[in-house]
Formats: sequence, C-alpha cells, structure tokens
Amino acid sequence: CDRIRKLASVQTVSEILPHPNADRLELATILGWQVVVAKAELIQKGDKVVYCEIDSKLPSTATWLPEAVKRRIEGQKNKKDWFHVKTAMIRGQLSQGLIVLMKDLEEELEDGHDMTAKLGIEKYDDEETEESTGDRNKIKLAGGNCWKPFPKELVPKTDEPRIQSNPWMLQSFKESNSPYYATVKLDGSSGTFLIDPKTDEFWVCSRNHVRFHPNYGDDSPKVMCPYWEAAKNANLEAKLREHNKNLAIQGEVCGPRIAKNPLGLDRIKLFVFDIYDLKTRRKLPFAELVSTCVKLGLTMVPVECVGDNSNVTEHVSSIGNLLEASKGIYESSGNVREGLVLRSMDQKISFKVINNDYLLGKKSK
Ligand code: ATP
Ligand code: MN
Ligand code: MN
Repeated sequence: CDRIRKLASVQTVSEILPHPNADRLELATILGWQVVVAKAELIQKGDKVVYCEIDSKLPSTATWLPEAVKRRIEGQKNKKDWFHVKTAMIRGQLSQGLIVLMKDLEEELEDGHDMTAKLGIEKYDDEETEESTGDRNKIKLAGGNCWKPFPKELVPKTDEPRIQSNPWMLQSFKESNSPYYATVKLDGSSGTFLIDPKTDEFWVCSRNHVRFHPNYGDDSPKVMCPYWEAAKNANLEAKLREHNKNLAIQGEVCGPRIAKNPLGLDRIKLFVFDIYDLKTRRKLPFAELVSTCVKLGLTMVPVECVGDNSNVTEHVSSIGNLLEASKGIYESSGNVREGLVLRSMDQKISFKVINNDYLLGKKSK
C-alpha cells in the first residue's frame, strides 16, 4: 500500500475490566480492541497511551517497550531485532495489540496521532503479501514479472479497513440506516483487470503492480503468473472487450500456490468483489455488481447475507456480534475462514471483520 496502515497511534483507554481468570491481569479496551494487561502497569480508564495494533513489528531494542515484552525478547532463542505483535489468547481472553504508556514516551498528543514512523514500527508481512512466498517462486522463475506500478490514477487500489480500528464506521453504518451486504473474505491475492483507455492494452495487476504478460521476455520455461492464469480461466479480456471496456474488475485470486489455498481449489480462480467504472469513476453499487457479474459470467465472492439496517440490527449491533458472525469455514474445504467484508449497498462504507479463530491459527474440526 501507499498509505501505510496506522499501526501505532495515540489513543485513550476506554475501559478497564477485571480478567475473569487471572488476579494479576486486566482487560483494557482501546477502540474496538481488547488487550490483556498486567495490573502492575496501573493502566486506568481515560489514560492516554500509544496503542500498537496486531501485525506491528516493534524494534526489539526500544526503551519504551513494556517490561513483559522486554522479558520475552530476552528469552528468545534466536534473537531477532524485532518483535511481532500477534493475536493471543491469555488465560482464555483474547488479547490483540500492545499498550505503551505515555510516561515512557514523554509526549502530549491528540487521539489518533500516528506514531508508527516515529517509533520505528513496521508492518509484519506474512505470505499474504504478493511479493512474498506465494508468488516469490514465480517471480524468481519468471525472472521478475512486475512491469510497472499499479495504475492508481485510473482505479483505486484494493484495501479494507478493520472495524476494530475504526469503530465509528459501525456507528455511521447504523445511523445512516443504509441497507448493507456481507461477503465472505477470501484468503488469496488481490487482482485488478482492466483495459487501458489510452493504449487499449489489457492489464493484469496484483496489489501493487501491473504484471508482465506471460509471453513477455525470453525466459524459458514459462511459468504462468497466477493473476494472468485467473484472467485466462475467466476469459476476462474478451468479456471486457465485448461488454464494456470501461470496467475494471477487482477480485481475489485464489487457488493452488496462493497463500495456503485455504479454499482447497484445484485450479486458479477469480472471485470478484468490486467492479469500478473508469469513466464515471465509481464502484458499482451492489445490485449492479451482481447483475454485471451474472452478465459477464464471473464468479463473485460468496454473499453471506443481505441486510436491511431497519430489521437486521442483530448482526451489526456491536463489534462483538460482528466478530461472532465473522466466524465460520470455507464451504469448499471446511477450513477456518478469514472473515467477512461488510458494505453499504452504495459502496460508501466498507470494512473487514477478521475472524479471530483465523488470527489465532486455529484448525477447523
Ligand atoms: P491490513 O491492511 O489490515 O494489514 P492487508 O492490506 O494486507 O491487511 P487484507 O487483510 O487482505 O489486506 O484485506 C483487504 C483485502 O482483502 C482486499 O485488498 C482484497 O484483496 C481482499 N478480499 C478478500 N475477500 C474480499 C471480499 N469479500 N471483499 C473485499 N475484499 C476482499
Ligand atoms: Mn490494508
Ligand atoms: Mn488478504
């Protein structure tokens, strides 16, 4: 991404509750996240702190690290110069993120102030990122298959904010009373497909790049790039040329060798989650998205439910309910699913709800 996720920011502790199973621990709430903290840290409701989200990579020599983290780094067998903040279950309570006390930072700043760069925090990237594992072998084999940066002046990059970091989204969602829909979040790689309005070339893009056509260059033997394979399997170029050259198709490329193929597919397949009109510069609202996918014979990401805020309040009434609703399995494989993506029908509000069982690395069955 260009916009680096705000991994560490100034926040106010909104709640401190006793830990039901541990005398020396407490449960702190920050935004929509729960963090297990030591009572000894004396964190109070209303305290201003720096909150580091899951997937933060903290520099392990930082003086401001909480004592518990310093001890864990001390105890590491293979010393690393960074510490990965993960989702954890501590005495039966979910703990996500890390709290740094202000006194350890000597700062006076407003809520939301981004501290990521200042604290030297980077994002931990697992194999989900396009440039790592899943695709790395191919990049090597094909001698580098990135052609140029993603054409973000034509079409927005794909991304979804997390509900726990943006709890106001749920609020405005409820208040606007707009109908919404939820789709299953598929754990693959992001693909964008379009016909360049200037050159009339068909472009195949991953999260951050346009990918070379598989026949480009003289590397041999040729290794099919999964994004191109997805386009080919869906006959996407022909469909766009025939139907409407102004549409960019955005979807999750899933299948063998991508992430851990949690859907258990036997070939590469594209699941559309967005269609963007390059001319009018807008995402198609839900009904048009569905009908266009039908017309073009494209598979959408599975639609979990279509709700009307006025009668389906249960689902969206709290972050807790959303997190429960995000749990489940991929029907094709029975593997634990990554979660849900909720959106208003008009595509104005959109966020992801990641399944904590998936974050904890639970196996299904
Ligand atoms: P983060 O920014 O939270 O660290 P990230 O940027 O690596 O995470 P993801 O957690 O994968 O991204 O979430 C956003 C991505 O989810 C989108 O870019 C898209 O590729 C993918 N995705 C999978 N299923 C869906 C879906 N049903 N609707 C929308 N996007 C989806
Ligand atoms: Mn992101
Ligand atoms: Mn992803």
